[in-house]
Amino acid sequence: MNHFPGGPERRRLGLDARITRRDFVNGTLVGAGAAVLGASSSAAAVVSKSARLRAASEPATGAPPPAEDTFTGYGGVGDYARANGNTWPVVQAAHRLRDGEYDSAALAHAKAAGDFDLVVVGGGIAGLSAAHYFIKATGPGRRVLLLENHAMLGGEARQNEFVVEGERLLGPQGSNDFIVPERGNGSLLDSFFAEFGLPREYAWQSWDARLRPLRFARDNYSNMDGFQESQVDIGYFFGTAGWRRNIWANALAETPFSSSARRDLLRWRANHGPMSEAESRRLDTLTYKDYLEKVCGYDSAVTRTVEPIVGLLSGVSTDAACARLGRQLVEAPDRAMALSFPGGNSPFPRALLRGLLPDSLPGKDFSTLMYAPVNFESLDRDDQSVRILLNATALRVEHVNGDSGRHPLAVTYERGGYLFKAGARAVVMARGGWINKHILVDMPSDLRAAYDQFSYAPALIVNVALRQWRFLYDMGITACRWFDETDGIGYCCNIRQNMITEGHSPALHPDRPAVLSFYMGLPIPGLPAAVQGATSRAKFLATPFPDFELRIRRQMMSLFASHGFTPERDIAAIVLNRWGHARLIEPPGFHYGRGGRPSPLERVRQGYGRVAIGHSELNGAQHWGSALEYGQRAGEKAAALL
Ligand SMILES: Cc1cc2nc3c(=O)[nH]c(=O)nc-3n(C[C@H](O)[C@H](O)[C@H](O)COP(=O)(O)OP(=O)(O)OC[C@H]3O[C@@H](n4cnc5c(N)ncnc54)[C@H](O)[C@@H]3O)c2cc1C
Repeated sequence: MNHFPGGPERRRLGLDARITRRDFVNGTLVGAGAAVLGASSSAAAVVSKSARLRAASEPATGAPPPAEDTFTGYGGVGDYARANGNTWPVVQAAHRLRDGEYDSAALAHAKAAGDFDLVVVGGGIAGLSAAHYFIKATGPGRRVLLLENHAMLGGEARQNEFVVEGERLLGPQGSNDFIVPERGNGSLLDSFFAEFGLPREYAWQSWDARLRPLRFARDNYSNMDGFQESQVDIGYFFGTAGWRRNIWANALAETPFSSSARRDLLRWRANHGPMSEAESRRLDTLTYKDYLEKVCGYDSAVTRTVEPIVGLLSGVSTDAACARLGRQLVEAPDRAMALSFPGGNSPFPRALLRGLLPDSLPGKDFSTLMYAPVNFESLDRDDQSVRILLNATALRVEHVNGDSGRHPLAVTYERGGYLFKAGARAVVMARGGWINKHILVDMPSDLRAAYDQFSYAPALIVNVALRQWRFLYDMGITACRWFDETDGIGYCCNIRQNMITEGHSPALHPDRPAVLSFYMGLPIPGLPAAVQGATSRAKFLATPFPDFELRIRRQMMSLFASHGFTPERDIAAIVLNRWGHARLIEPPGFHYGRGGRPSPLERVRQGYGRVAIGHSELNGAQHWGSALEYGQRAGEKAAALL
């Protein structure tokens, strides 16, 4: 943990400035609980009061997490303000479930909550997709219950919202970029865009021709090495060797890299193109580090340079991630620029929500899809066939009475400290395996064995709302990458050129507010894949918000202080989005299976009984399209079970 500075450093870092970041203590808990307590006061059973989060049961290191909510931090404004990443109440509930701390007698006496044709667990893109395609397959009128444990839908595709100097700004919490599907190519994504009337061409913030020319990414990945420097102005910070700009444009000539590192970095960057199936299978058998150093024979500087990018995108370091994933994720320079909506991929779940419950997001146009406040009252009405419960944590799914009853599945969930039980004809689990393992109490042993091979790694996305960003402008950059292997945090950040709509077009100007986004994984080279994930997650859970805030401020100072950055003046708000299980880790042999045995992914995709499993992780590398696809498959499978 960090030692909190006093005196001059405190002032320099702007820690006493009046910003919207400190009104969070227990805020999430109070808000989420209060919203549902009234509604459920007649419920029969109460959760074990003795339940406590026990970090000790996380394998490995790290002090226990704080008992108070010094974890979540300020969440911005608007509908997503109490759902920034995994919030403390959600983490606590999930860990109670993992640690078996729910009182079994209480579980048995949960209050009846009605019967449904389908219960969906998880309100991310996959869960909403499952509900949508289930209804498409069965026709309207089927009773569907969707449970989401956060205060807002969208899962990893949620957004942060800020109001700075009167300007409303959005930033992604996680899921961020997308590529527009080609019209009429027959893909699921093409038909999704068509069905929900999503535009395929967009307007972008304009750049005043009187200002110096500056190139921006339109997402938060293009600025990462090996991607699209040719389209973005990027500053590279080499510590004591100082800053260089757009290093790839002149073949790394002015960088402090050694000549062999330069040569091999350029070779690495030129090594791209589609992978054949045979190549993909071959690369699945070794680590990316071995591929880079032993197969390609590159200088180890290549490995060090790509390490944090692989750490973000795969969850673990190059010596633990398989080479197939490394090549697929980072060796794709200068492809067409990926795009993002102002709030990242949040319009996708919002479109699905609007499709399921049109009153939830009044309006039909693209602007209201992105910006309209959700009509929360419309989510759960007695008279509608589709009902969505927020702040509702599924605890247990089991088959009851064989297949004889009309609703042969029982789904128990907690909401506002009370337990409820719904009957279901089919269930879709639209969430990751680390929780499914605990909820699906009657899963067959081969499915459990498959899930036992799944491990996960965390990621952290920090959105810093700036009042102005002239310090970047003066440096001639809109993104930066740093190579600090000591006490720093993260490795890159950028501001985007935002998509605009008729109702919403904030100015892109160095003296106007903008969101600076930091994307980072937390890999620990040298440790086995699963241990890396668990160890970094334990540390990540034990780190209070103020510690992260301090590290972000120090990082920004070390990068920008000499270019006019003044935290007290420039920072309006800091929001952390923590994703404890951001990535399903894919070590060698995981994706295609090892020693003649199939991949555990194959077994999990099959589900069992009346339970269909549909989550983006079933693709391996997760993206919004795989969430939509596996949600669709699970929804249609559930429909076939009726
Ligand atoms: C940091 C980060 C960056 C990413 N960037 C991109 C990107 O740029 N582009 C891209 O396409 N993809 C990106 N992704 C991938 C992302 O996983 C997918 O795009 C997609 O959002 C995943 O949707 P999902 O529905 O499968 O899962 P999730 O979004 O994880 O949804 C699962 C939902 O289930 C809920 N839940 C969990 N447990 C319970 C319970 N017990 N009861 C009730 N509800 C529960 C969760 O709260 C969550 O809302 C990123 C992911 C992360 C973490």
